[in-house]
Amino acid sequence: MDIKRPQVSFGTVYYPEEWDEEHWETDASLMQKLGLGLVRMGDDSWASLESVEGSYNFALLEKAIEVFAAHRIKTVLCVPLSLPPAWLSQKCKTNEPCFSNKIYREACTSFAAAMTSHFATNANVVGWQIFSRIGGNARALKNCYCPDCTSAFQKWIEKRYGTVEKLSRSWGAGRTAATFSEICLPDTASRYKTAAQEFDYKSFRSDTFASLVKSVVQAMRANTHSSPITMDFSGYPEELDYAKISQALDVTSCCNFPDKGRPTGSVVHEKVVQTGARLEYLRGTKGGTFWVMEQQCGASGWSLQSRTPTAGRVRLWTAQAVAHGADTVFFAAWRARIANTDDFNDGILPLNGNSSRRSEEIQRTLMVLKPALSDIRGNMKGSPCNIIYSAEEKWAIDERRGHEDFSYTSAVTEYYQAFFDRNIPVDIISTDRDFKYSRLVVAPYLYMLNRALQARLDSFVMAGGTLIVTTRSGIIGGHGAYRADSPMPCGLSNMAGILVNETDCLRDGPVMLQWTAPLPTVRSIQAPGSGLAKKAEPLPMPSVSQMYGRYWADIITALPETKVLATYSSDGFYKDTPAITMHHHGRGTVYYVGTQLSPALIRLLIAHATAQADIPRSYKTPMGVEVVRRSGNENDWLFIINHTHSQVKLENPPIALGPMGVRVMAVAKPRAKTSELDDLAEKIPE
Ligand SMILES: [Zn+2]
Repeated sequence: MDIKRPQVSFGTVYYPEEWDEEHWETDASLMQKLGLGLVRMGDDSWASLESVEGSYNFALLEKAIEVFAAHRIKTVLCVPLSLPPAWLSQKCKTNEPCFSNKIYREACTSFAAAMTSHFATNANVVGWQIFSRIGGNARALKNCYCPDCTSAFQKWIEKRYGTVEKLSRSWGAGRTAATFSEICLPDTASRYKTAAQEFDYKSFRSDTFASLVKSVVQAMRANTHSSPITMDFSGYPEELDYAKISQALDVTSCCNFPDKGRPTGSVVHEKVVQTGARLEYLRGTKGGTFWVMEQQCGASGWSLQSRTPTAGRVRLWTAQAVAHGADTVFFAAWRARIANTDDFNDGILPLNGNSSRRSEEIQRTLMVLKPALSDIRGNMKGSPCNIIYSAEEKWAIDERRGHEDFSYTSAVTEYYQAFFDRNIPVDIISTDRDFKYSRLVVAPYLYMLNRALQARLDSFVMAGGTLIVTTRSGIIGGHGAYRADSPMPCGLSNMAGILVNETDCLRDGPVMLQWTAPLPTVRSIQAPGSGLAKKAEPLPMPSVSQMYGRYWADIITALPETKVLATYSSDGFYKDTPAITMHHHGRGTVYYVGTQLSPALIRLLIAHATAQADIPRSYKTPMGVEVVRRSGNENDWLFIINHTHSQVKLENPPIALGPMGVRVMAVAKPRAKTSELDDLAEKIPE
């Protein structure tokens, strides 16, 4: 089916049921003046749309859609399934039925079908969002041991393992049963539960939700024809595998609240990087461009309030989202809510509807971003650099972290930062994505490495790819049991040309390292107008105190043909043994890293690997100034974003970026078969 995405970039979130009808006209008129062309409605309103089972009342929404359409504003409708109506809670005998609950599941698909059928011929409805703020602190998944969950889990576990003997090998012999119909849900309180049991329970719950999403989308699809269906994800995949769930959706989307609930409005570089990584991750769950269904446009918070954003921050956050692949953005919300959980979320307008500092900033934001978006909408080139981050890896390794300070998400984000700080485009992808366009794949902590992924990584390297793998990889196979089929790291030792003999968990603090190889050279384009010639320069050697490793130290034997790039330098029995190695495998190269490197060493490693993989040169900018390039139909567009509170001056052409400043400029598209960034360098006067 040919899905038509709306050709409009900016909208807002509106709750018509919270306002008298005379307000709608005023609000629609103000939205139109501001330049907004989309409105999202219907969120949280299942109870009023179906207050009695099977009896639907869409009159209010229909009227509101008409009012906005008269102001050239199209509607994206929510199928608000997260908050069930009272009759459904009573029928399910709980306020928050679990996702296995058959009554709830049937009610979701019936309501979704009825709603889409009702609006099927309404040309002003141009898209759909199902559920709401899934993940993050919204509707969290609770542990549930109801009969529906139990029987669904028994079927799921049988499908995964096939025989109880196989289940027994994964969970341990004492935790299985004679038949699958006797298997209990792993009790979270049990001290004797294995990581494999916990992992399976998490996967089951995520799959249960994914199958509900699939049923809802199927029920809608018969009526919605070409309108896209999306769902907004929040944060990282704590409990749900966003990449798997996204398979049923036409476009993925997220809530973008960079400052949510934080006590300080100051700019911390680490937080800027985290926002970038989250956006890359959300984009990577499905690939292509994505939508922002709720963009923070003021102070935020549910029970605690964040600082109010300083001038320019809303524009900056929106520009950052667009630069990283958003092509439709809804500012949340138009007015602050009359009654909801998010008591401290500002609207574009305050409750009284007067214009605000925020509405003026959003108007300027649209002026800056609209020309670029009308050209780039729907286009998103993949990057040759990929970082693997997957929900399943997170669940598997977070269940048994080993070191109290270790976090999979933070460790992966440290690798991302090395790309971010050098303005090298990178896609954060799940393990199931192909490596067709990749030249460099960074795969930190492949704790759960199954044979299929191992074979795909091997083919990628054999064909000339560059791969970085790390400690705590190849530990378990697909279904929880430890791998014992090859020397450690299982499935990777041959590719990496090393053996890991033992692993020291660094519970007492970091281990020091020394870089023993020649320093890598970085080729960069200077920031537009910085007046500096493009050139290659070696990275400076970090100071001794900047070179360390955390959490684990693999004690590594490098095979004779394997190069050693860094060694451990702390006193101890593995002093001077390899910590970072490089090995040619087929036509490609595999780096192995035996510890979580300090940021300075990650920078060196990524510089080494990007040179090895011949990644095109990138822009050199001062710390906190980000340059991203997106391709359009007519032009390419540069997003130059100053994340700092300081003035940045670029001299030629004269660009002064104030604190939180954003510049979006069109540049010529690269000629075929040239390095795209080299070509750009020729375009910018120096
Ligand atoms: Zn349940």
